[in-house]
This record gives sequence, C-alpha cells and structure tokens, in this order.
Amino acid sequence: MTRPSLQIAQRRPTRQIRIGSVLVGGGAPISVQSMTTTKTRDVEGTLSQIWALAAAGADIVRCTCNDSDAAAGLAGIVPRSPVPIVADVHYHYEMALAALEAGVQGLRLNPGNLRKPQEIKLVATEAKARGVPIRIGVNAGSLHPDIERRYGGATPEALVASARQELEYFAEVDFYDVKISVKASSVPLMVEAYRLAADTFDYPLHLGVTEAGPPPDGLLKGTAGIAALLAEGIGDTIRYSLTADPVEEARAGRRLLEVMGLRERKGIDLVACPSCGRSEIDVIKVAKAAEEALAERNLSLQVAVMGCVVNGPGEAREADIGIAAGRHRGHLFIKGKIVRVVSEDAMVDALVEEAEKLAAEGVEARLAAADPGAEEEADADGKEPFVSSAVGPNGVAVQLGGAKRTQATHLEQS
Ligand code: SF4
Repeated sequence: MTRPSLQIAQRRPTRQIRIGSVLVGGGAPISVQSMTTTKTRDVEGTLSQIWALAAAGADIVRCTCNDSDAAAGLAGIVPRSPVPIVADVHYHYEMALAALEAGVQGLRLNPGNLRKPQEIKLVATEAKARGVPIRIGVNAGSLHPDIERRYGGATPEALVASARQELEYFAEVDFYDVKISVKASSVPLMVEAYRLAADTFDYPLHLGVTEAGPPPDGLLKGTAGIAALLAEGIGDTIRYSLTADPVEEARAGRRLLEVMGLRERKGIDLVACPSCGRSEIDVIKVAKAAEEALAERNLSLQVAVMGCVVNGPGEAREADIGIAAGRHRGHLFIKGKIVRVVSEDAMVDALVEEAEKLAAEGVEARLAAADPGAEEEADADGKEPFVSSAVGPNGVAVQLGGAKRTQATHLEQS
C-alpha cells in the first residue's frame, strides 16, 4: 500500500560505488549489511546463514577471510550467494589477495592492523584490476598505534586521520573505489567520528556501533548511533553489531530503515496502543497473535490493535486496517472506517481474513463491502454510558457516570 511519505533528512551527496549488484552512496537506497558467524571454510553452513540473512533483509554479507581454508571457502560461496560477499581482512594482506582471487565483490581492510604501505597498495592495485571496492574499516578498538599516540587516544579526529592515511596510500596507486567506516562501541564517539568523516570525505559511509553487545541493549546502542546519523542525512550502508544470531542484525537493519522511511516496507507494521486500565482485551496477546498471523501470510500492511474504542479507530486512522475492542466486541476498521463488528474471540481471525481481502482487493472494494450496520453498532458500543457505583461518605451507594473519557485524558495516559 502506498502512502505519502515525509523525508527524514536530505541525504548527504557522496560518490557511488558498486558492490556486486548493490550500489552504495550517490543516492542509492541505504543498504543493510550483516556478517556471518560460521567458519568460512564451511561452505554449506555459511551459505545457509547467508540465505537466512538475505531473507531477513541483508543486501550485502561479510565473511571473514582469516586463513587459506576460508579463502577456499569463499570461492565456493560467492557464486552461490544470493547477495554480494565482502571479505573481512585483518593483519594479512595475503588473505585480501586470496579473497580477490576467490571472486569476492568487496573487501574490508582494517588500517589498524594491516599497516604496511606496500602491502596496502598492492591490495588496492589488485582490487582496482578487478573492479572490487574496499571499505576502509577503522575501529576505535584497533586503531593504528601511531595515530592513537599522535591524538592521545581513539578520538573522532584520530579515527578520521586513520581513514585519511589509508586513502593517501590508495591514491598513490590511483584507487578511489572506497567506502569508509569509523566505528566505536561508544555511541557519542561514533556519532562524532562519523560527523567529522562526513565533513571530511565525499566517499560513502558504512555506519555501525561496533561491539554493541546482546539485545536489547545492543539494539538500543546500534539504533541510537545509526539513527542519529541517518536523521542528519549521513550514512549509505548500515550494520548492527549484535552478540546474537546475525539474522537479528539483518532484521533490525531493515526495520530501522523502514521505520525511518528510508526503505520501502516489506512486511507488517504493527501500530498498537500501550493499553491502560480502560483496555477491554489483552492488547499484548492480541497484537502478538495478529502480528504473527499476518507476518506468516507475508502481507505488507500497517495494522492497528487498540484496546478500547474511545480513540482507537481515530488514532489509528492512518493504519490500513485495525481492530479496537469495545464492550467485548471487536470493531474492525479500514482506514479509520468501521467495516464490521465481531465477537471478542473472533477478533484475530476476522482481522486476518479482512487483511487478506484488503491486500487482494484494495481499500475501495473493501469499504464498499462493509457491513452497512457496523458503524451504528460500533457507535452504540462507544456511547454506552459509563456507570459505576461507589459508596459515599454517608455509606449510601452513589452513581458515578457520564461522559466518555476525553481525548486529552487518553493522551496523558498514552
Ligand atoms: S485509552 Fe488508549 S491506551 Fe487505553 S486501551 Fe484505549 S486505546 Fe489503548
């Protein structure tokens, strides 16, 4: 379903590079990366993880190339991979050369531990001959010792200086097919380093908070750093570094771009109220059941689950479809318009059934097929006077009652 979209920021103009079939920078869609955790020599195991990463949203996958067995594995992996493969190289320039021989579509070099200018230039020359780009992957945890000394530590300036020095070696062999990362595990340091890199270079930037740890903290750290920069228009490709199944990294990267309006949504976007004392259903349970049922069906819809009818349909008006609970019934709505009222136990099934029809037939057709009495029935649920009793100070039961909760009250609670 299409809807008008706001642009979160003007993207920073950069040069463009190509990693296999994926363009990076120069206005190309921001791509999602992840890295395999298998031994690269294990061709079948690594390929199976690569396919899972691609299915979860990875556009590019990185594999370590740490020995000759890994390089041999890459030769078997690259031709069968659904996405371009980048070889991750530390310490040994020979591994970069072997990965190029294996046919990888990209290299990542760490200037902190692959330091000899002659070796760096040789790798760049060979990459240039094959049209393979290189990421200058600076990392605050493995900064070039000379640079760390010069700057008194891993400062933003030190990270950027390391990238600049590598670029100078590359320029000596006329190599400019480059993207840059200046990662750190500290979010403020990473954000400042990338801001400085964006001011200094016109190469595409690969964003990431390195060694972010396990979810949920790792996700929060990654999101804090990556989203802050994306909202400033900085960043051309991203990777979450989680201590978790890398599928979670790919999924998080993809979802971050979707929720920021930087990539088209592929699956379900669930809008659900936080629920409160007014809720008439277990919102968490219903939302989860609806999300799972719709995700299984691969429907690309924004779906709302609201715990009561007070503001539910109105607040979720932008959702393609939703359900709000009212007096133990479900008010099913499309684009904020009530189309059916169903019993509480049929809510999720009705939502899924209507979502399938909506995806197949479109909004107009489903609104035309709405139950003609639904609005009135739902209105009656909403208008049911709130009546309760309490015991007054003189011991006599008193009636409390009257109006529905106001939107202002509701918003305070939300
Ligand atoms: S008042 Fe708002 S938060 Fe509370 S149940 Fe209703 S829709 Fe959910």
